[in-house]
Amino acid sequence: MLEFEDRFRTEDACRAYLAQLRWPQGFRCSRCGHSRAWRTSRHLWQCCACSHEVSVTAGTVFHRSQLPLRVWFQAIWWVTNQKSGVSALGLQRTLGLSRYETAWAILHKLRWAMTRPGREPLTEEVEVDEIYLGGVEPGGGKRHLGRTKALVAAAAEVQGGGIGRIHLRRIPDASAESLVGFV
Ligand SMILES: [Zn+2]
Repeated sequence: MLEFEDRFRTEDACRAYLAQLRWPQGFRCSRCGHSRAWRTSRHLWQCCACSHEVSVTAGTVFHRSQLPLRVWFQAIWWVTNQKSGVSALGLQRTLGLSRYETAWAILHKLRWAMTRPGREPLTEEVEVDEIYLGGVEPGGGKRHLGRTKALVAAAAEVQGGGIGRIHLRRIPDASAESLVGFV
């Protein structure tokens, strides 16, 4: 937490981080390929050769947001450090936001950003399991699927000691046919 706060203390620090993600080998103009840029007063990068202007937030969830990047970064830090789910109310309290709607909108955008539009298959080593979601119903055991329970198949990329991307899908039952279909 301290390291995070230290590193992203200012808007400039956040922008520098985004620039590094966008251009790991240094600036490269998307129009002419030139490798030098001026920084403009509006925090844009302007190509020294063709004057093309680029914002480091273009094409990201932060683009045209009224919120400081620091708030976005803190929200991402919080969301990715919660072990058991996140809520807009929790985010609002953590960031000290005055409006619930702001926290809700941030979460909505982050969830959207975490789902890849292409949905490429998971790669390398992948673990698959099924999970029963919902409480135990009267007259039914742990594996009884009634009206309030769902069976969800989950696949996760193994990345060292942690997990990478995941795919989830509701399946009708735990039969080999349903599971193999998901896999
Ligand atoms: Zn250029």
